[in-house]
Amino acid sequence: MAEKAPVIVKVSGPLVVAENMHQAQMYEVVRVGEEGLIGEVIRLEDGLASIQVYEETAGIGPGEPVQTTGQTLSVELGPGLLETIYDGIQRPLRILEEKTGHFLARGVTATGLDQERKWDFVAVAGTGDTVSEGDILGTVQETSLIEHRVLVPVGVKKAKVESIKSGKFNVTENVAVLNADGKKKDVAMRQFWPIRNARPVQSKRLPEELLKTGGRSIDMFFPLAKGGAGCIPGPFGAGKTVTQQTLAKYCDAEVIVYIGCGERGNEMTEVLNEFPHLTDPNTGEPLMRRTVMIANTSNMPVAAREASVYTGITIAEYYRDMGYHVALMADSTSRWAEAMREISGRLEEMPGEEGYPAYLGSKTAEFYERAGSVNCLGSGDRKGTLTVIGAVSPPGGDLSEPVSQNTLRVTKTFWGLDSKLAYQRHFPAINWLKSYSLYLPNLEKFMKENVAQDYWDVRGQAMSLLQEESKLEEIVKLVGPDALSIREKLVLFTAKSIREDFLYQDSFSETDAYTVPQKQYQMLKTIVTFFNEAVKLSDRDEFDFAKIEALPCVQKVAKVKELNVTEEGSVSAFEDVRKEIQKEVGAL
Ligand code: ADP
Repeated sequence: MAEKAPVIVKVSGPLVVAENMHQAQMYEVVRVGEEGLIGEVIRLEDGLASIQVYEETAGIGPGEPVQTTGQTLSVELGPGLLETIYDGIQRPLRILEEKTGHFLARGVTATGLDQERKWDFVAVAGTGDTVSEGDILGTVQETSLIEHRVLVPVGVKKAKVESIKSGKFNVTENVAVLNADGKKKDVAMRQFWPIRNARPVQSKRLPEELLKTGGRSIDMFFPLAKGGAGCIPGPFGAGKTVTQQTLAKYCDAEVIVYIGCGERGNEMTEVLNEFPHLTDPNTGEPLMRRTVMIANTSNMPVAAREASVYTGITIAEYYRDMGYHVALMADSTSRWAEAMREISGRLEEMPGEEGYPAYLGSKTAEFYERAGSVNCLGSGDRKGTLTVIGAVSPPGGDLSEPVSQNTLRVTKTFWGLDSKLAYQRHFPAINWLKSYSLYLPNLEKFMKENVAQDYWDVRGQAMSLLQEESKLEEIVKLVGPDALSIREKLVLFTAKSIREDFLYQDSFSETDAYTVPQKQYQMLKTIVTFFNEAVKLSDRDEFDFAKIEALPCVQKVAKVKELNVTEEGSVSAFEDVRKEIQKEVGAL
């Protein structure tokens, strides 16, 4: 008897159950219903498949057909990814819009890469060369900022290049023919990769280089290493999106992948409208030339968020494999976790904490573990990094909830956004007492060599002044400021300066949004110098603190932001202020 065709037996929101699915594989892409909605098999038992559908399922019903495709959910990798805005399953939004207008129709397919566009492929390998996975076959100038490197596909070992040609090709045309053990393999510029599998590397390295973000509280106090993983938890309105976007604009990664899972309906639209008009402050080129965006607007179904996270990180790994510093921002991963919770609930799985599935922790870990500093596949000594920064939005800002806890377990830099600071309009609202970076020991050598030999001392002292401030504030609340000693008053005075003149940084100010690390250090050193000089006066009896406050150098310290390190690297502007501090305090 002929096997019965697969049909839908049940529809429950984004989850569809179909029978007669004996031919299907786990994680296979299927087309669901008469309209052919795109879905993925996420559970398979005796021919009964549970399918996560990445499009709106309203109106789909039992009895409608399901088609298997024989493929797992994959991304198409090749030139043309940069400058594109995708949905969660790598359909370019612009193409979808052209095909269907602003309101996405269902079942629309669109390839990830433009199949017609011709690229200038320049062969690097030569006929007769022996190549293996990860070796560079040729290059394409993808945008003015990024040279795309076409690599020998993963899995190919010791193959002879039978032919290779430079010239104009689209992504589907062959640029080379390889021969491994008598088996010929045509290679085009595009490749497919299943999004749930991490792309392989030769080996992982310790992340030891600073990701320069230009954010003072980040780079000086809680730095992130290139290849590291960081998280930004914070309640609604505390600045997660602004921080992620500022990082995407200014950090010194060469390629940015930005995944937006809209919190509010119009939020992603703002990003989509704003980003294409921004220019890279380092190069003056449009920022999109180094950026791939993945957008889940709020009218897209929740399941697509799940796919978008994997689509994004696979694209990021692909550029890492070419030898680039890549940074991925995911805003907000809580929306992804909620999607997991919803699907898991519909699958009637045993719920874990707060209804999230028991595998929330392992899925979160798998995602962040795809970050890293690596020796890329291939025979050269190409290195790449993939830094992952995830925002988390715990309801009410309570970090004990499962998504925050699971994220904190696997990320090493924690920028804790604080609603109190945001309410006081202290931005970035990164709480300096709660945040941390476990990359500090790894970065020690880099900071000493590239920022300053005494970076640690200056940072350490500034941190301890802030900590002392918080203790003294308690005392002041109890007994009033008059009970404080001169030294204690000075601690409060200096800590305030660290907060207001150094940590406060307006992301929307053209001059203030980005500060080079050398300048950050000079600013902090100047403030700390003021304390170290003035504290010499503190053991005098009957000293009038107002005299310190009235010193002209105090005004200069308050404006330390306005000083600059010159292009030649001269820091004399800061040194001059430090000399004035010594002179004026000495004269008291
Ligand atoms: P969240 O994503 O946490 O809900 P947003 O990133 O949307 O919060 O930030 C809320 C508001 O806070 C922004 O619209 C902006 O006015 C302000 N804000 C946050 N961070 C900064 C910053 N670094 N500089 C200036 N303003 C900021």
